[in-house]
Amino acid sequence: MAEEPQLPSLPSITDDWDRKKRFIEKKHSIIKCGECNESVSRLFNLGDFVFKKLPDEECEKCHRTKSLTIVEIYSEWVDPKKK
Ligand SMILES: [Zn+2]
Repeated sequence: MAEEPQLPSLPSITDDWDRKKRFIEKKHSIIKCGECNESVSRLFNLGDFVFKKLPDEECEKCHRTKSLTIVEIYSEWVDPKKK
């Protein structure tokens, strides 16, 4: 029994389309502390936007409030089949 030749899969527009259908978008917000310059990434919350201030949240590093600002929001595509 001869094995099927394994062709390397070439990226194409169709593949990319399939990928977007299968993958789920996971959004993150990067929050920076104005006091200690620590930046942390956490899951995106509804209502988050860049330059939004988070006066009620405490910095993980210096434990100050009123110092956190969202500096970036990014999303990644996650394969739901992979854990
Ligand atoms: Zn801090």
